[in-house]
Amino acid sequence: ALMITDECINCDVCEPECPNGAISPGEEIYIIDPALCTECVGHYDEPQCQQVCPVDCIPLDPEREESREELMAKYERITAA
Ligand code: SF4
Ligand code: SF4
Repeated sequence: ALMITDECINCDVCEPECPNGAISPGEEIYIIDPALCTECVGHYDEPQCQQVCPVDCIPLDPEREESREELMAKYERITAA
């Protein structure tokens, strides 16, 4: 999963781009729900939020490294629900 750092300027550009509805406004900055973030696997070749963020504050979460297979399995769980 990806994460949003405290450099976020709350511009709201990323939220509508997420195909999994994983992004929402948090208390101070936008947040990504790691249970819903597939790094866009299953939908797009590149993480859409990273493409649009004007301040490049959406890196991979080093505490939540996932393989492509795990991400695809998550995508399948989400779309089946
Ligand atoms: Fe959503 Fe894709 Fe960004 Fe994850 S990488 S938060 S699935 S837009
Ligand atoms: Fe924050 Fe970047 Fe999303 Fe804008 S696009 S709300 S700066 S994470």
